[in-house]
Amino acid sequence: MEMSEHTQRKYALLYTILGACFGLCFPIVAALLGLWQEKMALTFSNALLLYRNDALLRIIGTAPLFLGLFAYLAGSREDRLREMHAKLENLTARRIGETKQALLRELKEANLLRYVIALTATAEEPLDIFDEICAQLAGFFEIPQAAFALLDEEQKQSLVVAEYCAPGRPSAKGIVLPVTGNPSMAWILEHKKPLAILDVQRDSLMAPLRDIMQQRGVVSILIAPILVNNQVLGTIGLDSIIKRTFTDKEISLVEHIANQIGHAIQRRRAEVETARQKTYFEALVQNSPVAIVTLDRRCCITACNPAFERLFGYRQEEIRGQNLDALIAPPDEQFQAAQYTQEVMFGQRVHGIGQRKRKDGSLVEVELFGVPVVVADEQIGILALYHDITELMEARRQAEAAAQAKAEFLANMSHEIRTPLNAVIGMTGLLLDTPLNQDQRDFVETIRTSGDTLLLVINDILDFSKIEAGKMSMEQQPFYLTSCVESALDLLTPKATEKGLELAYTFQENMPNKWIGDVTRLRQVLVNLIGNAVKFTEKGEVVVSVSCKNLDEDVYELHFSVRDTGIGIPAERMDRLFQAFSQVDSSTTRRFGGTGLGLSISRSLVEMMGGKIWVESEVGKGSTFHFTIRAKTAPATSLLHPRGLQPDLEGRSILIVDDNATNCLIVSRQTKSWGMEPQAVTSPKEALEALQGEKRFDAVILDMQMPEMDGLALAREIRKLPVGKELSLVMLTSLGGRPTDEEGLGFAGFLTKPIKPSYLFETLVSIFTNRPRAVTEKPAASSLDHKLGERHPLRILLAEDNVVNQKVAVSLLQRMGYRPDVVANGMEVLEALRRQQYDVVLLDMQMPEMDGEEAARLIVKRWPASQRPRLVAMTANALEGDREHYLSSGLDDYVSKPIRIEELKRALEESPSLVSGSSQMNSKEEVA
Ligand code: ADP
Repeated sequence: MEMSEHTQRKYALLYTILGACFGLCFPIVAALLGLWQEKMALTFSNALLLYRNDALLRIIGTAPLFLGLFAYLAGSREDRLREMHAKLENLTARRIGETKQALLRELKEANLLRYVIALTATAEEPLDIFDEICAQLAGFFEIPQAAFALLDEEQKQSLVVAEYCAPGRPSAKGIVLPVTGNPSMAWILEHKKPLAILDVQRDSLMAPLRDIMQQRGVVSILIAPILVNNQVLGTIGLDSIIKRTFTDKEISLVEHIANQIGHAIQRRRAEVETARQKTYFEALVQNSPVAIVTLDRRCCITACNPAFERLFGYRQEEIRGQNLDALIAPPDEQFQAAQYTQEVMFGQRVHGIGQRKRKDGSLVEVELFGVPVVVADEQIGILALYHDITELMEARRQAEAAAQAKAEFLANMSHEIRTPLNAVIGMTGLLLDTPLNQDQRDFVETIRTSGDTLLLVINDILDFSKIEAGKMSMEQQPFYLTSCVESALDLLTPKATEKGLELAYTFQENMPNKWIGDVTRLRQVLVNLIGNAVKFTEKGEVVVSVSCKNLDEDVYELHFSVRDTGIGIPAERMDRLFQAFSQVDSSTTRRFGGTGLGLSISRSLVEMMGGKIWVESEVGKGSTFHFTIRAKTAPATSLLHPRGLQPDLEGRSILIVDDNATNCLIVSRQTKSWGMEPQAVTSPKEALEALQGEKRFDAVILDMQMPEMDGLALAREIRKLPVGKELSLVMLTSLGGRPTDEEGLGFAGFLTKPIKPSYLFETLVSIFTNRPRAVTEKPAASSLDHKLGERHPLRILLAEDNVVNQKVAVSLLQRMGYRPDVVANGMEVLEALRRQQYDVVLLDMQMPEMDGEEAARLIVKRWPASQRPRLVAMTANALEGDREHYLSSGLDDYVSKPIRIEELKRALEESPSLVSGSSQMNSKEEVA
């Protein structure tokens, strides 16, 4: 300004002087000209004289004044112009300066950022660069201190890990600050953005840190969070010792840098994790006892682990790049190996067992796995794993050989034991057919029953060892569930009747009846469980229930339960129950007999049928054994007993009288499902009351065995009632207990317990339709001809390997009055025939060692037709043409399994008694 004032005056003055001087020339020249014109002497007084007289000259004399004035104006203008110019120049210079400053700052900022980015991108360890970044920040912001603090994992406290600290200032490194009670930190954790504080002594957020700040002389601060995945990992803090505002731009710069560092930390963490995993997997591969080799897409080896080198004898360097299959697959495994490789190349996993060749040419047994290696959806190669199983295979071969030896030993043993035992049993049979006094007869019978029991035990053990040796296979044949359960119950009915136990069974309504599975094994389990239930129950009942659950299309889970009211099993013994040779306590064994194998065999069988077995029990109250199996329904499945409303039965009311509540329930439920109206009472007294009441009944089902008054007596009482005269009465009897209706009480039907729904149905329908029953009841009990053995004595040899089938056949034959001898295979048949004579041999066709067909062929060859027994085939192979086939191989007759009583009876009746002498004796004896 000073300068411009000076300039202003300068030109105005200069121009004025010059103007005035130039103006002065006019009066001087005019005076000279005037003097010269007047020829006056050139003196000042002449000149003055001239001026005084000449007005023109006086006018000319003012020229310096005017010209000076004009020049002043021009000078002033010049001054003003100069001044404006200078101002403009100044302004321009200032603007340029400012722009330069801003550019510089931006450059510095950009440099800083670029620098931080470069640092973080290249840093091995972010911690290493923190100090450097702090220094850069401090330099940029021209502050004495900048620091990084990291939060611990639980975000409980922060620790200053890096800093820049101007010389002479106290270092902050290592300072730990708790997060709780630190509002500024809490604010950052919550808002996840930078916090700038102008005056730390005044700001409430900094209250707890005021003292520290004062000590350190900090006035203003900026704190920015380091975020990783939106989580605060730590902070950057800038301390200013003078009051300083951080501009938005500065804040966002720091935020940017913090982000950059967050990325670096995150990247580093991922790298560390990847490296850790890599090391881990490398260690795994390197130390794995399994030989591992990796192949590229052309199936060439890229790497292998030390186990591979050890197993095959190659070093990694020498096989890299070679084709794996060509290297280690022996010639006769080449094809298979190539196939495996192909499969893995197509993205499948393979698992197999085979042989591979070592470098020295020797072979090694391996279990191998092939896995495709896929990276980002692209298969980049194959991983192949080899596990040396030479020893395992050897052990397996040995184990198999041992199992084989064991099975053979057991087969031999049981054969060895059975042969003399069969002789003992057979001979006692013969002995029983000779005249004996009562004592002798008792002794011989004891030997005979003990022999029979011993045979059963041996068969159990053989069965068990077969399962143990894995020799038991399951059949898959269609069968009817009802006949399976009923035949199992039939087998135990005599024993139950003898003990006065009620036997009953129920099926879930509307369940399919025709299944595919191994009916013999299923029946074996049922016989075991029902047998145990009967064995361990003194009074009460044994109830079998069957239900099913659909699993998938035609696959079901069948659930069986056998409930008894017997002695029960203490809780602490239950877990051992299903182990071999375990009995609840040895005293029970003595009292009840048994090998303790039944449940163990049952468990194995059930497991082989895809199910499980368990027990619930309470001592003194009874036990319920449950088991499940998986089975498919057979095509063209028929449903269990007639289902749904039955027009002939619908609406009929029926009175059920049975002291056993379970039976009442079962009959009630069954008849209800046919649309009938059942009413059940548990005593004859109630029955009579009910009959005399309001309600009319169409029929009464009454139990024969009831305390107080038996069925006959009740029937008699009913007939005395006015409503009872014409009432249809159906009598429930236990096996062998069918009463003869001598008094003409007129029973409409008899049913044997356990009640078979089909018979119940037929009986009821026949009553209400007044037509004769379509199906007369044919349970073993009622239609069995107990006297057949007397009328038509025969010596029978039964050859059957299956324990349950043996039991079934023996029980039937015994109830017909026969005493069969039992053998378990064709060889034993031949031995028995060599020892003694038989009239009939019932030959199971499928038996181990020597089957029935082979035995028949040998018998036909060895004995003339007149001397050999009649050979009757028993087989489940009831296919078209089987009968002809068997008959052509020397067998005389054929009964199908499961055995039907009429068929067996017919076959026996058609067999002539060959051994006339002894049978004669037998009948004579019996007559005597
Ligand atoms: P065993 O041939 O001796 O009967 P099991 O394996 O069939 O062998 O049974 C093992 C033991 O389990 C039996 O000895 C008996 O103590 C106990 N047990 C089995 N079933 C029952 C049951 N229904 N009630 C009470 N105890 C039972």
